[in-house]
Amino acid sequence: MQSRQPLSAYKRIVVKIGSALLVDRKSGLKKAWLDSVCTDIAALKAAGTDVLVVSSGAIALGRSVLQLPSGTLKLEESQAAAAVGQIALARAWSEALSRDEIIAGQILLTLGDTEERRRYLNGRATISQLMKFGAVPIINENDTVATTEIRYGDNDRLAARVATMTGADLLVLLSDIDGLYTAPPHLDPDAKFLEAIAEITPEIEAMAGGAASELSRGGMRTKIDAGKIATSAGCAMIIASGKMDHPLSAIDKGARSSWFAPSGTPVTARKTWIAGKLQPAGEMHVDAGAERALSAGKSLLPAGVTLVSGQFERGDTIAIFGPSGREIARGLAGYDASEARQITGRKSNEIEAILGYAGRSAMVHRDDLVMTAAASTRKSDREKDASHV
Ligand code: GLU
Repeated sequence: MQSRQPLSAYKRIVVKIGSALLVDRKSGLKKAWLDSVCTDIAALKAAGTDVLVVSSGAIALGRSVLQLPSGTLKLEESQAAAAVGQIALARAWSEALSRDEIIAGQILLTLGDTEERRRYLNGRATISQLMKFGAVPIINENDTVATTEIRYGDNDRLAARVATMTGADLLVLLSDIDGLYTAPPHLDPDAKFLEAIAEITPEIEAMAGGAASELSRGGMRTKIDAGKIATSAGCAMIIASGKMDHPLSAIDKGARSSWFAPSGTPVTARKTWIAGKLQPAGEMHVDAGAERALSAGKSLLPAGVTLVSGQFERGDTIAIFGPSGREIARGLAGYDASEARQITGRKSNEIEAILGYAGRSAMVHRDDLVMTAAASTRKSDREKDASHV
């Protein structure tokens, strides 16, 4: 089992913050606490770790701003509350991060944005650009438009999807519970705390309680579901209490938390998805120079493509063939088939003149590409992948 590291040893961390930590029913936003989290985030960023935040609290904050009475809200009421609360929430993050001269960017996602490949690619490209700008993405579900059937409903699983989508190596779930116990601790005095979980087995799932009970909604059940999503894609997960100030540095100082070991590596998990799960919707044939570039871990540029066939859309899986006619790779198309045909064999700096807009420079970006050629070359490709992802 991979061992626990200090947070600053991770390259990219997604931190999920539960509503109860950020919002007090009576007094509203807990500003001092938020400031303390932002100080922790600034320290991690200064140590070279990318941080993304998945922040709940829109509905809770909207309730407080609108002074709605306690009790269950109807769907349209909670959506309207989210519309009010999300503005306040984003502003609070932006102001708190600006104390350390960090810029915040708001991203609102729906379930479809992470499930559908084209939207997934778009969302990922935006988040990645935001981080290249040095900003911290503040992410939430787009509660104002998401309806019951097409929403996550809980930010634990949304945060796990964001973690796998962005290649994060750690997901931290901060809430009012400090980790996983063998049984619900408030009901069972013999419940034991679990500090490290090597694998999410059916026994571990059973400890989280049954699915779909009123008590477990957004509770341990969704956290374990998040753990399954994250760890199977090579991302470790920590469940920790966020009740104290500076909850992220508290984890490093030994505050009690449960650690879930990753079961794969980010490279193989994502590339396995690209290579294995999807049927190629089209083909690209490439020249010898492009074949060498792909083997060296580079992106496929339009200049190296000799032929495009099939009907595919941006984000669909395509098979890539070398000059000998052998399939050498699979990847996610950066362009629709008709656009790909227009820029075949052309230089990247000609794309804008041909298509009328400045598209991406790659036909298939290296992050979306996996070599599928003979076993002898696959090992070296993997080593190269590991060095640049
Ligand atoms: N998206 C919801 C909100 O911001 C929270 C969902 C959750 O608590 O998991 O209010």
